[in-house]
Amino acid sequence: MSGLDDVTVERRLLEGWGRTAPTEADVALATTDGEVRDVVLAAGPRGVLARGLGRGYGDCAQNGGGLVLDGPSRSGLTSVDLATGEVTALAGTSIDQLIRWLVPLGLFVPVTPGTRQVTVGGAIASDIHGKNHHVKGSWGNHVTSMRVVDGSGEVRHLTPQDTPAEFWATVGGMGLTGAVVDATVRMAPIGSSLVSVDTDRTKDLDEVMALMVEGDANYDYSVAWIDLIARGRSMGRSILQRGQFATREQALASGVDDPFAYSPHQLPSPPDLFPSGLLNKLTVRAFNELWYRKAPVRRRDELQSIEKFFHPLDMVDTWNRIYGPRGFLQWQYAVPDSATDLVRHTVERLSGSGMSSFLAVLKRFGPGNDAPMSFPTSGWTLALDIPVLPGLARLLDELDEQVVAAGGRVYLAKDSRVRPELVPAMYPRLAEWRRVRDKMDPEGRFRSDLSRRLDLV
Ligand SMILES: Cc1cc2nc3c(=O)[nH]c(=O)nc-3n(C[C@H](O)[C@H](O)[C@H](O)COP(=O)(O)OP(=O)(O)OC[C@H]3O[C@@H](n4cnc5c(N)ncnc54)[C@H](O)[C@@H]3O)c2cc1C
Repeated sequence: MSGLDDVTVERRLLEGWGRTAPTEADVALATTDGEVRDVVLAAGPRGVLARGLGRGYGDCAQNGGGLVLDGPSRSGLTSVDLATGEVTALAGTSIDQLIRWLVPLGLFVPVTPGTRQVTVGGAIASDIHGKNHHVKGSWGNHVTSMRVVDGSGEVRHLTPQDTPAEFWATVGGMGLTGAVVDATVRMAPIGSSLVSVDTDRTKDLDEVMALMVEGDANYDYSVAWIDLIARGRSMGRSILQRGQFATREQALASGVDDPFAYSPHQLPSPPDLFPSGLLNKLTVRAFNELWYRKAPVRRRDELQSIEKFFHPLDMVDTWNRIYGPRGFLQWQYAVPDSATDLVRHTVERLSGSGMSSFLAVLKRFGPGNDAPMSFPTSGWTLALDIPVLPGLARLLDELDEQVVAAGGRVYLAKDSRVRPELVPAMYPRLAEWRRVRDKMDPEGRFRSDLSRRLDLV
């Protein structure tokens, strides 16, 4: 490819975690700032985009017919300050690597999503949230600076103090303001690698929502799994798990030798034996019933590993294949507290629709940050995986309209199907974000399948 003689470029079929709309792109394995700059400047009419580990569910990390910068080609730490907890990492460093390196030093990532296989660049671009959003906010709140190659090929040093517009446009900017090359992130001190967990099994949705409103403030981490198959009086029955890191003393008292031990397990990938996927209404019903029944009605102070509490899905490498070749999508919305009834209504509609979702989680969000395109906003968030089936699009379109009417939005990092005309209403600061983006990328080099589908740029 012209102008890229020193950079390895491979044609690859890229897909999101939901595997719904793969597209082909030229993937450049740039390993230095100079090479990243060369790739950005070599972008043709289809543009260029940075990609991390491809854990976005939809098409946010794809750029069909264009160039894609491979994030994991550049990973590692360039500095660690144990006194402040500030760590500078190359953008392709994964949360998995950060945890493996930092937990033994008594530090944990400030925010972790439901998988640790996401990169620092991807965490910034989606402004990811975790089980602690209600107290710690999202990933961008903990980034103290970052370096970004913008659309002119310039390496810019961004901080919330000196360059707030560019910094916050890049946080949650879905990779469309530039390619993050590294970032300094403030890690959180921990007393041990064990989490002290309280579990409550609730009989219905009202009970779990009441418990969360009353008690989430007492916990660092909180999330509820909802049985979306249950109907009638059991509609929305849930397992609520909340906790915080155990102290060193609690960990030692439990009998562990090393309070900071961390060694996650990996099971083999599921076989591709099930052409239509493993999941159907019967298997999901059986799974949900078992999962719900096996949880204790009420348990306090159970010590769990980081892996079990934060990343149980990572135990199976490519679990997304159980949905079969048609793939699946994740629908996640956030709505203010004033829309509590809408949460009830959506759970009712989804459980009544016969859609089989085994992964549905409810969480309370704390206040959002200054990023115009960041997803989290104070109130409720509901996220669910759904296999792609006839009738689904119409149902979700209808529910999207209700989310917008309630002042809410869907999460772009997980989206693969929202109607583009709804996006400006979901993200009312879109025009402001576009103005900053246009300054950072005047030629419009940064593009993605998502940006084209939703007319973002
Ligand atoms: C099982 C599972 C659970 C999840 N749970 C959560 C959750 O709890 N909370 C949550 O917030 N998200 C969650 N996610 C979504 C995931 O955290 C985000 O999609 C995240 O952005 C993925 O990171 P990635 O490195 O894989 O990036 P990719 O998926 O490769 O890319 C995501 C976006 O980041 C951009 N990007 C990547 N690298 C860079 C870079 N260097 N510079 C600029 N832009 C870049 C891409 O262009 C794209 O727009 C989950 C995903 C999965 C599969």
